Amino acid sequence: MPFSKLGLSSPLVQAINELGYKAPTPIQEQAIPAILTGNDLIATAQTGTGKTAAFVLPLLERFSKAETLRGKRIRALILVPTRELAVQVEASVAQYAKHTPLTSMAVYGGVDTDAQKERLIEGVDILVATPGRLLDLAHQRALHFDELEAMVLDEADRMVDMGFVDDIHKIIVRLPENRQNLLFTATMTDDVRALAYDFSDSKMTDLA
Ligand code: AMP
Repeated sequence: MPFSKLGLSSPLVQAINELGYKAPTPIQEQAIPAILTGNDLIATAQTGTGKTAAFVLPLLERFSKAETLRGKRIRALILVPTRELAVQVEASVAQYAKHTPLTSMAVYGGVDTDAQKERLIEGVDILVATPGRLLDLAHQRALHFDELEAMVLDEADRMVDMGFVDDIHKIIVRLPENRQNLLFTATMTDDVRALAYDFSDSKMTDLA
């Protein structure tokens, strides 16, 4: 099945073609149409299955519609457990968004906050973040979530293992209640499922 049949339009299909992707992977075939509906989703997917594109592409598709374009405010928050993953996921977002006006940025600990704050003032559509730095920046009032439409928890099992559940709860209370929630995990455990049901109270597509 071609990517265009999944409901993705030309700026994204062009970026995908340039990357040399021939066809969607199984998780992309299932998750992209489900996420385009706006429903919450929980999915099991290992690294290497194409899971990043599975949640990034449909969000970009929705946000790049001309009538929904905005400026300055964060529209999607992607939470990841490590700095390395933040860098990697943001690089993917930038590649897929190349032919759209949408912007992205990664924030993570271990580096000075000043440069991150300056860049945030310019405005960003998709923010990829580790939980600790995100809370740090939020406490410094450097983040505005009033126009947030979607939140993604990537590698949720690793976030649970690394002790991020409390931080995730502290982040969620700062977000608008009316938002799309997406959770991806390599393994499904009771803790991960509990986390998903904690932050989602709307209809959820379950691919786990
Ligand atoms: P991920 O599972 O998100 O870590 O992706 C693993 C790798 O697969 C990344 O290098 C992607 O660029 C690549 N990839 C994602 N989707 C596809 C696809 N449909 N066809 C070929 N490669 C892909």
